[in-house]
Amino acid sequence: MLSNFTAKGSEMLSCVTNGAMSLGFARNLSIHEYQSKGLLKSFGVDTMIGEPAATPAEAERKAKEVLAKGSGKLVVKSQIHAGGRGIGVFPRTGFQGGVKLADSAKAAGELASKMLNEVLVTKQTGPDGRLVRTVYLEDAAPVKREMYLALLMDRAYGGPVVIASTEGGVDIETVAHTNPNAILKFPVDINAGMSTEQAMDIARGLKFDEKSVPQAADQIQKLYNVFIETDATQVEINPFAETTDGKAICLDAKFNFDDNAEYRHADIFAMRDPLEEDPFELEAMKHDLNWVTLDGNVGCVVNGAGLAMATLDYMTLAGGKPANFLDLGGGVNQKTAQEALALVSKNPQTKMIFINIFGGIVSTAMVARALLEAMKVVKIDVPLVIRLDGTDSVEARKILKESGLKYTEATSFEDGIDKCVTISKWL
Ligand code: GDP
Ligand code: MN
Repeated sequence: MLSNFTAKGSEMLSCVTNGAMSLGFARNLSIHEYQSKGLLKSFGVDTMIGEPAATPAEAERKAKEVLAKGSGKLVVKSQIHAGGRGIGVFPRTGFQGGVKLADSAKAAGELASKMLNEVLVTKQTGPDGRLVRTVYLEDAAPVKREMYLALLMDRAYGGPVVIASTEGGVDIETVAHTNPNAILKFPVDINAGMSTEQAMDIARGLKFDEKSVPQAADQIQKLYNVFIETDATQVEINPFAETTDGKAICLDAKFNFDDNAEYRHADIFAMRDPLEEDPFELEAMKHDLNWVTLDGNVGCVVNGAGLAMATLDYMTLAGGKPANFLDLGGGVNQKTAQEALALVSKNPQTKMIFINIFGGIVSTAMVARALLEAMKVVKIDVPLVIRLDGTDSVEARKILKESGLKYTEATSFEDGIDKCVTISKWL
């Protein structure tokens, strides 16, 4: 259902899992790779040793420490909440690659200076890219081959699923399109947990030699435990690698956590990096509104998550492009209306606004008054289409009409969509 529009910053896996969950409108906390690896280590999952750094001088110092304990080679990794860093570009300088190998502390410091405080653009960041504020200095693993391993909650199956592929290190969506048979799925019984047998099946599916299977299976089982115990919605290890001596190791790690589980994981949620999050989503969160930035131009203000989703789908099918998902929640009052309108009109992508309200419990007459009060504070200077239906809608429409507000009235959901699509074509 959600495949017709694109959430900004959404990543991968939607094609692998048929949509909804990974793209999801549940808010999902992301953390940096170095933090993810700290979490993995605490559950006994093997990663290389490493240290984060925020300045080139600190990077050189930390590099020295890691070199002294490690193999003598380092990887310098830009820390942003997006993948594809390896083949990313720093557009200001033209420097290629947000993940680079270095064989001395000095070289690592120089690489860090090319990455820190620079914007990195990757396939997953969108054209605006992300500012690199931290680099991770990690001992380089001797890699024999790169695989893909992810754990996620799958709606279609109704539980955890492990996705494994020998075709790792690369963009998994491409593999899903060009070579779907290379992607294996292992549903896990959430009550029983992952058995050793199943973990060994997965390791064999990833073509580990029989003598390497037990260690790889142990790592996979531990990964499953982190996934469950941290209330993650997704753990993606790409690449999950085999070293030259046949050991499984996690070279990259991306976690998402269910925001509803925040009260159980204060330590994990303390790693939230506000600078990495969509400012609109953060602002909405402060006011208990649900927001997701999309890539269209019609700002949507809707009451109820179901209607908000339906609005996005319907608009997209009709040829329009929503600029955001926004659910006002059940009880619309002047305060929520004001905050919602402020958010929508602050979004530079918004070229018109569609207010789509169905009053079930809430009186639309009250909503109409709340909207008018809100618009005294938040001036709307783009075309506005308003649909108010349900409880007290006759009175509500009368209130709007007599208010002197400049807007286009929609007499039904369909009518509202038609009008938005027509108007937005001229913007
Ligand atoms: P991404 O591009 O953002 O997904 O960043 P990754 O952490 O996946 O790194 C990109 C690529 O760098 C990987 O696919 C590997 O090929 C390479 N790489 C990362 N860590 C190591 C390492 O420890 N040793 C070696 N040899 N290569 C690495
Ligand atoms: Mn990766």
